[in-house]
Amino acid sequence: MRIANKMYKMLRSVVIAVFSVILISNAIHALDLEVFDLTHAQDGDAIAWPIYPQYNFTILQRGLTEDGYWLEYNAFEMAEHSGTHMDAPCHFGEGGLRVHQIPLEKLVGPGVIINVKSKVENNNDYRLALSDIQDWENKYNIIPDGAIVFMNAGWSQKYPNKTLVFGSDDHMDPTTFHFPGWHEDTVDWLLKNRNIHVIGGDTPSFDYGLSTTYPVHKLLGANNIPGMENVANLDSIPESGSIIYVAAFKIYDGSGSPSRVFATVSGATNNWSSKCLIILMGIFYCRSY
Ligand SMILES: [Zn+2]
Repeated sequence: MRIANKMYKMLRSVVIAVFSVILISNAIHALDLEVFDLTHAQDGDAIAWPIYPQYNFTILQRGLTEDGYWLEYNAFEMAEHSGTHMDAPCHFGEGGLRVHQIPLEKLVGPGVIINVKSKVENNNDYRLALSDIQDWENKYNIIPDGAIVFMNAGWSQKYPNKTLVFGSDDHMDPTTFHFPGWHEDTVDWLLKNRNIHVIGGDTPSFDYGLSTTYPVHKLLGANNIPGMENVANLDSIPESGSIIYVAAFKIYDGSGSPSRVFATVSGATNNWSSKCLIILMGIFYCRSY
């Protein structure tokens, strides 16, 4: 009887120890998030299509007030489609969602980064092909539900040099532009075969520079999918395994919105101190029972 009692106590200790370690390690893992900024700063160099007004920042107050305390405030004017920004579905789709109508949960999702840098190296007019999607899926598995899929063409490094970003010396004439984008057949396939929250990339339009008919814009509009342009720093996150957030201004009736785009990657810091802490907690629990 005494042996059975001892065995029971030992078993209980082991169960408590195991559960404690699992709980603590989960809690630490949840906090072990690294955050990555995928946004270009909005300023006078912000890149926008030539038809749109330029960014304008006015300092209204910066200094000591008459009462002797420091005070700063400014005003800014900008086009909706400026710098790192979202195209709402209504931009090219009559009756499509406007910015304030897009559910916030549709602006968060697993990050899928399609790297086409080697393809665009000698071809500014490259359009992201279905084979690029297949290559990604062969490497990382099927595109997860609710994905935010971005093309990484290496364009972030060119920003905000207009000649490099537009691929043209004439920044005012879109018929001269040469930069990569998405092929409409690829987008059509994705929308029919995968559950996608947002599509976009690091170039100034998800239709490539040579386009004059904007078929990808029309497809996204017709399917109520927001698109992203001039996304930054896509080299900083893994091609699979991040969560991407599109924090657009909630502009009432907006056709687009400058956005703070960012990603989180859990366990990215590979934190050895937290792992040591988990092991120590385990030893502590085992010894105290
Ligand atoms: Zn736009």
